[in-house]
Amino acid sequence: MVMRTQVLVVGGGPAGATAARRLAGAGIEVILVEKDLRHRKACGGGIASTALEELEIPRKAPHRTVNKIRFVSPSGRKLDIPLEGGEILVVDRMAFDSLLRSLAGESGAQVLEGEFSEFQSRESKLKSRVLINGEPRIIESDYLIASDGVNSRVRSSIGLKSPGCVFTLSCSVEGLESDACEFWFGSEHAPSSYSWVFPKVGMDSHVPQALSPSVGLSSVGTGITYGSDARLFFERFLKRLNVNASGEMTVRGYKVPLWKNGIYNAGKILFVGDSATQVMPFTYEGIYYAMKSGEFAAEAIINNRLSLYRKLWRRRFLSRFMLMRTLESVFLRNDAGAEKLFDMFGRPDVQEASMRLWLRKDASRGSLLSYINLFRKFLH
Ligand SMILES: Cc1cc2nc3c(=O)[nH]c(=O)nc-3n(C[C@H](O)[C@H](O)[C@H](O)COP(=O)(O)OP(=O)(O)OC[C@H]3O[C@@H](n4cnc5c(N)ncnc54)[C@H](O)[C@@H]3O)c2cc1C
Repeated sequence: MVMRTQVLVVGGGPAGATAARRLAGAGIEVILVEKDLRHRKACGGGIASTALEELEIPRKAPHRTVNKIRFVSPSGRKLDIPLEGGEILVVDRMAFDSLLRSLAGESGAQVLEGEFSEFQSRESKLKSRVLINGEPRIIESDYLIASDGVNSRVRSSIGLKSPGCVFTLSCSVEGLESDACEFWFGSEHAPSSYSWVFPKVGMDSHVPQALSPSVGLSSVGTGITYGSDARLFFERFLKRLNVNASGEMTVRGYKVPLWKNGIYNAGKILFVGDSATQVMPFTYEGIYYAMKSGEFAAEAIINNRLSLYRKLWRRRFLSRFMLMRTLESVFLRNDAGAEKLFDMFGRPDVQEASMRLWLRKDASRGSLLSYINLFRKFLH
């Protein structure tokens, strides 16, 4: 049986759920298919509180609240940077994604558990093969939003190459508690990238950690941009934290796409979030950018002008992404660079400007330029 809708959204993570919410809110008929409604994405789950306010997302998902960022340099120097004018919420991704899909449903989107497999045709109408409750179905739509993440099936089904990636290994560590989102630099455990320790909401256990934080639970991970033995780097990081790598730990491997300023749409198929590589270089912050790209793509469809998506994205984020890519290439090149970064962040003006830029996603071009000026002598 053929199902018909104006827009089919494939993937119900932050990008797809936000796109579906905006479209349905504007009176457009939307079907969102998510292949696993209980999926918990491997993710630190850190989101700026200001991002939730901007996108009108209630703080209903279980979360931990963090008020500072900690940097640890390759030589082991530690620096705490307070967050002023906002905080970081560390959310459980299963609950958060489910909340976003509920908001989409409340706006009028039809949310189904279903898996996109391929296109039957891409003529004037798009015909997609989708498995719903084990039954193959065809969904006919005017537009399709590909929000199916870094391993996008939509991407591969139209012959687009997979993006370049940072490979991550991460796991939960019980008994390890942190009062900050910690970023650890050093080629010993994360060459050209970083490792992290984030406090975690304990949704895996019977007692949510948010209700009993004293037990201590963190998510710990490492990003690896090159090198064949990812596990070796990850184990080195655990050792650095004095954590015993026991066989009981569930270590998850996942990819973060490397941003490539390129793909927005292929005809009436729009790519958003990780499927479009829209993860901030250097920080690998992707949740906010996924939600915003979903919003911009929806705006383009609502206005029946697909070029608007690219225009909105570039106007708002291009300079910021380019700047972060430059900083990444300068400071994460080697340990000396990371130590230099650490020295820079010791300066109150750099701390203040960085946190302002990070929390105020709508920062103007002027404030970006003054930020670049702070780093100018290192950028040659
Ligand atoms: C280890 C790690 C830590 C991270 N930490 C952070 C962090 O702390 N803060 C931050 O901002 N970002 C973080 N990120 C990045 C962030 O997780 C992503 O950028 C973000 O989830 C992208 O959202 P998305 O909606 O584009 O894709 P996803 O969240 O990947 O959602 C894609 C959805 O599509 C579904 N899907 C896939 N294929 C199909 C199909 N064929 N049919 C139907 N559905 C399908 C999947 O089940 C999934 O629900 C981290 C990433 C990793 C790997």
